[in-house]
Amino acid sequence: MDKSLRRPVIAGNWKMNKTPAETKAIIEEMKPLVANADCDVVICAPYIDLYAAMEAAEGSNIKIGAENCHWAVSGAFTGEISAEMLKAAGVPYVIIGHSERRQYFGETDETVRDRTRAALNAGLKVILCVGEVLEERNIGITAEVVRKQTKVALSGVSKDELANIIIAYEPVWAIGTGLTASPEQANEVCAIIRALIAELYGKDAADRFVIQYGGSMNDANADALLAQYDVDGGLIGGASLVAEKFAKIVEAASK
Ligand code: PEP
Repeated sequence: MDKSLRRPVIAGNWKMNKTPAETKAIIEEMKPLVANADCDVVICAPYIDLYAAMEAAEGSNIKIGAENCHWAVSGAFTGEISAEMLKAAGVPYVIIGHSERRQYFGETDETVRDRTRAALNAGLKVILCVGEVLEERNIGITAEVVRKQTKVALSGVSKDELANIIIAYEPVWAIGTGLTASPEQANEVCAIIRALIAELYGKDAADRFVIQYGGSMNDANADALLAQYDVDGGLIGGASLVAEKFAKIVEAASK
């Protein structure tokens, strides 16, 4: 088995932070800091910031993503944005199924599956988030929860389409809390996801499949997390709001 079959992906998730002007400023600050990255670099920003982000990132190695998309192509869904709209706007990536969407906005495994389907149909690259809450970890059902979330989200996804999906394993108890999964805990669940990908799509696809860890990853703990065999990058919340911290994580993934 060869970890070098997989190019790491470091993606920032800004959540509901930054104005268009702040977006432009921080992307300009990030560009020289990540210019020599030996990994893919993505910034996922609020919808209102996407044009500013793409304009600022033009000609650099920073790719831009949205934080969600609807499952319909168009229609009576006030306040929503479709995958087709993102594609038409030139946005290549989208996060789907983030735990904050599941927790606060009624996202279910089925709506995550439908949004994933729509994003793939539109030709977007998907960062699909899965992860257990603390109670589930404490009663020992992390593997079942993560396997079910992954299986439902990927139902109907072909082996070819899998090339446009990254999974971010994000234990909910570690997101925005400062509590990080230990490198071993992160690797254990990423390995469970990889084994499921092998079951569904074959070992070859699994060996090439990118699985990120997310949950309070920062410039101090990134090295140890990213050194794990099954951890191929990170989805970064808080630390992606500060250019130097984000760049240090990108540097750790480039080693
Ligand atoms: C996230 O929002 O996906 C995340 C991992 O947040 P944080 O890094 O702040 O825990």
